[in-house]
Amino acid sequence: MKYENDTNSKGFIRLAIVSGVAALLLAIAGTAWFGAFQSSRLREIAQTQAFCIKLVECRSAISLIERQIAEEQLPATKVARLQSSLRIECARFIDIGRSSGIAPESMLGRWLKNRKPITGSISHESLQFMIVDLDQMIEATTIQIAREHDLIAASLNYYLVFITLLLIVVMLTGGRLIISTYRHSIIPLNQLAYRLTLMNRNLPESLHDTATAAENLLCDSEPSAEIRSVSESVADLCHVIEEKNKKLDEIYIRDEKTNLYNYRHFKEHLIIDVERAKRFGSDIALAMIDIDYFKHYNDRNGHIAGDRVLVRIAEMIRQECRATDIPSRFGGDEFALLFPNTDRYTALEIAERLRSIINDEPFEHKHNQPDGQLTVSIGIASWPDDAGDWHALINNADHALYEAKSAGRNIVMAYSSPLAICESE
Ligand code: GH3
Ligand code: MG
Repeated sequence: MKYENDTNSKGFIRLAIVSGVAALLLAIAGTAWFGAFQSSRLREIAQTQAFCIKLVECRSAISLIERQIAEEQLPATKVARLQSSLRIECARFIDIGRSSGIAPESMLGRWLKNRKPITGSISHESLQFMIVDLDQMIEATTIQIAREHDLIAASLNYYLVFITLLLIVVMLTGGRLIISTYRHSIIPLNQLAYRLTLMNRNLPESLHDTATAAENLLCDSEPSAEIRSVSESVADLCHVIEEKNKKLDEIYIRDEKTNLYNYRHFKEHLIIDVERAKRFGSDIALAMIDIDYFKHYNDRNGHIAGDRVLVRIAEMIRQECRATDIPSRFGGDEFALLFPNTDRYTALEIAERLRSIINDEPFEHKHNQPDGQLTVSIGIASWPDDAGDWHALINNADHALYEAKSAGRNIVMAYSSPLAICESE
């Protein structure tokens, strides 16, 4: 389908170009023919007209002689002189006919051929016949000239119709080409340009829309091959950038080693959640979790083994918390677990469960630890009971953690409450 459209549009462009060139050649040929035809007709008309004028001149001279001969009692000398003028006039007329370049097969040529020079004297009656003959010829010549004019006018009309038709063909083909280019190239290009402008303004939000718009261009219309290639590239590019953006977003908020949220993301959440809790009067709790004697573990078993413990404890924290909680690596061997919309007692319960399952986890080399166990201590503070802002919430949860460490480790402590929820085993 895609390549069929390509072939169609290329075929159409080729057809339009061929039609344009053919129309141009036809216009040139038509104009040349019309020019040649016009000039040959005009030359013929000019010749016929010149001959017609001579016929008229001759006719008026003969008519004058005829009128004089018609007078009665003319002296013989005058009659002889008139007969002589008549012969001269006729001879000149025939001579004019011969030298005028008139084709022998034409009407005039045939007429002239049948006219003989006058040798003897001519009667008055013959003279009158001669004038009638001349009149007929003058009339026939005039009609012929009129016909030639009509022919020229008709040929001009044909020429104009021919040129107009050619122009219509060229305009229709050119118009179709322009409309097709506009529909399949200019409009899609404008849409893409508009999308790309939006993309420049707000990259993450408009990436998806731009990819969809580019894909729609491929499906909705029949874009030109160039626009198809641009649309496909734009759609691909948007998808690649979207994917990379998602990865970047993840990298931006995740801790590389444990895949928990990093401190940056934890802090952003903490600030927002404390503000929300203030506005809606809800609770929020924070647990700070620190591995007990982790330096000792590293020193005895190496940092790689220590990293495995960090990763495993991170997994256990993630499993124990709820979808709305924010489990994060605070730094080093310390984790922060934020509980939005949670009171201190619920947080204590979750923390205690976590402490207990970490205590029971069969970590490698755990028996080499000072207490023969690999454990964590947890300090808890909550808002609004224990803190007025997010700084105080972290500090007081840390303080509770310090208290848990001081109390012997593997303990969950709530801030300002020395209550040990669970003693170490
Ligand atoms: P405490 O019970 O008082 O917490 O004793 P501790 O030895 O755990 O003391 P502290 O928490 O101050 O020690 C943190 C140790 O965590 C120090 C460092 O060797 C280790 N650590 C910090 N980050 C990493 C890490 O990314 N990988 C490993 N393997 N160890 C780390
Ligand atoms: Mg520690």
